[in-house]
Amino acid sequence: MSLHTRPVGELREKLDSGALSAVELAQSFLARIESSTLNAFIDVRPDLTLAQAGAADARLAAGERGPLLGIPIAHKDIFVTRGWRSTAGSRMLADYVSPFDASVVTRLQAAGAVCLGKTNCDEFAMGSANENSYFGPVRNPWDPKAIPGGSSGGSAAAVAADLAPLATGTDTGGSVRQPASMCGITGIKPTYGRVSRFGMIAFASSLDQGGAMGRSASECALLLSAMSGFDERDSTSIQKPPEDFGRELDRPLAGLRIGLPREFFGDGLAADVRAPIDAALAELRAQGAVTVDVSLPRTALAIPAYYVIAPAEASSNLSRFDGVRYGHRASHYTDLADMYARTRAEGFGPEVKRRILVGAYVLSHGYYDAYYLQAQKLRRLIADDFSTVLDSVDVIAGPVSPTVAWNLGEHSDDPVRDYLADIFTLPASLAGLPGLSMPVGLGAGGRPVGMQLIGRVFDEARLLNIAHRYQQATDWHTRRPGGAS
Ligand code: GLN
Repeated sequence: MSLHTRPVGELREKLDSGALSAVELAQSFLARIESSTLNAFIDVRPDLTLAQAGAADARLAAGERGPLLGIPIAHKDIFVTRGWRSTAGSRMLADYVSPFDASVVTRLQAAGAVCLGKTNCDEFAMGSANENSYFGPVRNPWDPKAIPGGSSGGSAAAVAADLAPLATGTDTGGSVRQPASMCGITGIKPTYGRVSRFGMIAFASSLDQGGAMGRSASECALLLSAMSGFDERDSTSIQKPPEDFGRELDRPLAGLRIGLPREFFGDGLAADVRAPIDAALAELRAQGAVTVDVSLPRTALAIPAYYVIAPAEASSNLSRFDGVRYGHRASHYTDLADMYARTRAEGFGPEVKRRILVGAYVLSHGYYDAYYLQAQKLRRLIADDFSTVLDSVDVIAGPVSPTVAWNLGEHSDDPVRDYLADIFTLPASLAGLPGLSMPVGLGAGGRPVGMQLIGRVFDEARLLNIAHRYQQATDWHTRRPGGAS
């Protein structure tokens, strides 16, 4: 088998033994990216990639060792990078090159990971299908007619199609877990505050969280361990010592208590998604886990709460794109107000404008109490529901998405259909809890199905442990799409 399909652990051995150089490895992925038709990347600069690979080879030659030293990685184009453009999938930032790296990028570069380029995403990470990018939609490698999920659709498609062994993503309301699910890979969004938001282009700051995407849980553990940790430049970063999230990978599952919220298994869940999840739960039970019926009664309210809070924060965060400080500026205008208006009208796409309008509305005098404050109260109640359930079980399991990936264009007349599909990912985001998606089968049309695991705060290692044990006994995470690459 060729290089790009090998697990990170095997690449690691080849790099360490000198059988493979980081430059050769990077070249092999760059060649695949070059011939790819998925539109998974926004900016690729082989000269920069190969310079980083050369530096990794020098460190290896000097005897340095490290889990990611010389391993290629793709970054969602929400993390700012020196050298590569940082667009957030927006015309507003289409030509923007950051003068600094995001903390995640700095950390991974320090660990010796080699950046392959920037992956396509929904504009400012707003979306569930990767159809809101100024740079065009991303195609799902399992079926080019299907969406890859969003907003980290480029990262998910890149890993699924072997264009990159690992990728970063960001998750505000599901954007790591949902595209991971739809592309048949593993993705983890850690507890809010684990991963620095410094240099992560802001969407909704109280929800935004960086995450790791890879083929397997053990590979995600390597990436998450390297990318997370306290950062004094992010005021919501958690002050905890660095952790090895792979430390519990092999722990047996005997006695593990898994809660199955009845609201996650109701009528809204498609039968072709439910069947593989039931089979995965049976596998976990066979390994000694116990499943318990539980209830998260406020699940359905996560959608209205999130779609008030996230736009409110977005309207505030995106006010900085004014044609003066960053990015695009309209070329013709009459006065300052006209310059702002034209710049923002030209620079933002329809979904971003919709969210800014909703956000400004729910924060306005007269509606603040009726919408924004109510949504904040719901957010608290949703978090309380999780606390109650996670007192009696170790983790919660359920679907990631109610259906497999839909077709490109299928929801284009009705954004609310995209919003409704977020029902199973939004609750953990609102509660700040860690969530993982792992591939458990194929549904209608041979499109991937993911299962979600939601843990207590700081329980990432446990989630990765459960996924790893499952992956030791099954092979869904190693299956390759037969579609385009
Ligand atoms: N689909 C959700 C939204 O459109 C979540 C996106 C995300 O997590 N970035 O806001």
